[in-house]
Amino acid sequence: MNTHLIDGQWCDGEGDAFESLNPFNQQVLWLGRSASAAQVDEAVRAARAAFAGWALRPLVERIVVVERFAECLCEQAEVLAKAIGEEIGKPLWEARTEVTSMINKVAISVRSQAERAGEQHGADGSTRLSHRPHGVVAVLGPYNFPGHLPNGHIVPALLAGNSVLFKPSELTPRVAEITVRCWQQAGLPSGVLSLLQGGRRTGEALAAAEIDGLFFTGSSATGAALHRQFAGHPERLLALEMGGNNPLLVEPVENRAAAVQIILQSAFISAGQRCTCARRLLVPHGHWGDELLRELVQAASALRPGAFDDQPEPFMGTVISLHAARQLREAQQYLIELGGKPLLPLTQLRHGAALLSPGIIDVTALESVPDEEYFGPLLQVQRYQGFEQAIKLANATRFGLAAGLISDSSERFARFHALSRAGIVNWNKPLTGASSGAPFGGIGASGNHRPSAWYAADYCAYPVATLQAETLSAPPAVPGLPG
Ligand code: NAD
Repeated sequence: MNTHLIDGQWCDGEGDAFESLNPFNQQVLWLGRSASAAQVDEAVRAARAAFAGWALRPLVERIVVVERFAECLCEQAEVLAKAIGEEIGKPLWEARTEVTSMINKVAISVRSQAERAGEQHGADGSTRLSHRPHGVVAVLGPYNFPGHLPNGHIVPALLAGNSVLFKPSELTPRVAEITVRCWQQAGLPSGVLSLLQGGRRTGEALAAAEIDGLFFTGSSATGAALHRQFAGHPERLLALEMGGNNPLLVEPVENRAAAVQIILQSAFISAGQRCTCARRLLVPHGHWGDELLRELVQAASALRPGAFDDQPEPFMGTVISLHAARQLREAQQYLIELGGKPLLPLTQLRHGAALLSPGIIDVTALESVPDEEYFGPLLQVQRYQGFEQAIKLANATRFGLAAGLISDSSERFARFHALSRAGIVNWNKPLTGASSGAPFGGIGASGNHRPSAWYAADYCAYPVATLQAETLSAPPAVPGLPG
């Protein structure tokens, strides 16, 4: 099976065998072997050889190729959306929005690159700022947005003139293959983009190879492992986009129904498999908070999980695998053993399907709440007494990706915004909403200060500062130097 693209040729993997399963029915969707370390090295050599030609092409020519890629995505939109739905269980309506985001990323990246990494000349022509690509960079993708998130690194990296080695999640090889075939159709020269399928071992081999940078989106544990692997290599750029344990603080507001809708979308969209999903809901003690929770539990139990192509369309699909479903049930059980009180139990809805119902658990009584990211539809509730205690609870995490406030008070939001330690701080909006025209990333265990999205152009190229003069003349005299 031709499942890897190396130096412009599709070929078989030489590493361990693995497969991708439909999480709803365990049907095999993709079967292949991972790239071996030798194949990784071969792809790196091809990327190195292709680099100069690609980087020296005028930007307008690179833009033409990237725009052709967007056209191919438009043609393949339904095929790709269906592949996303089948491979990760995301409902078709949502998979379609992911494909649309991939297409839109092209125009956005062209604009953000011009703004953040374009050419600038001083008024008198004596100074110049330009940006150069790093060389050969690796992109490691997560499974939860198998198209959009790797794309968010690959498009700006190629626009900047880098050669790219793409290793998708081992859980989503099929979506990656369809995407890379679009790149090939767009006319990308051989070696400029390679596809290396595989899991941890392939990722480790890539990180150990002679590359100039690695752009990663995934869990904090993997990001930290990569950071250790990069230790002692300051010359290699590492951009890490990782997970979160995101707080959503709700105050007594007039429109409680709207608050409930925002909470549902923050916690349970994508079956809780977005990095920005609310994991902890901070609710005031007292009657208003009790009522909010009652309405929330009622609304959450009415959410309809289902297969990606069910009709009518479900709100949320499966989690990624039966393994992930079990881990989430175990996490809930662990919180119960620590003293948590389930308000709405998370349950597996169907034998053999990674289909979970939304879970809500009150962990206020716990002496110490584990600071973990439970990547699924499990929302923890913490009751608070007063706004200042709520802010303390919100910040009581080693992560720092997203934090949200639901409040009628702009003064409260000003304080929340000033004190929140997170890269995304939203007010009266779902925590999972993000603007494509803004940077995206977190601090703490959520990222290493190299935000993506609008700022991706920043880590895809390095700045070159130039002093220049067309006419040669002696520089101003300095003391002690004969004129
Ligand atoms: P993951 O860390 O398990 O895997 C991510 C990628 O790293 C995969 O391609 C995987 O094969 C590879 N990998 C795993 N171990 C490796 C190692 N030791 N060395 C090199 N590569 C290795 O993440 P996941 O489970 O696929 O994705 C979910 C996670 O991603 C969640 O934690 C989520 O919060 C996070 N995420 C973050 C963002 C963001 O922008 N901040 C966006 C989406 C998802």
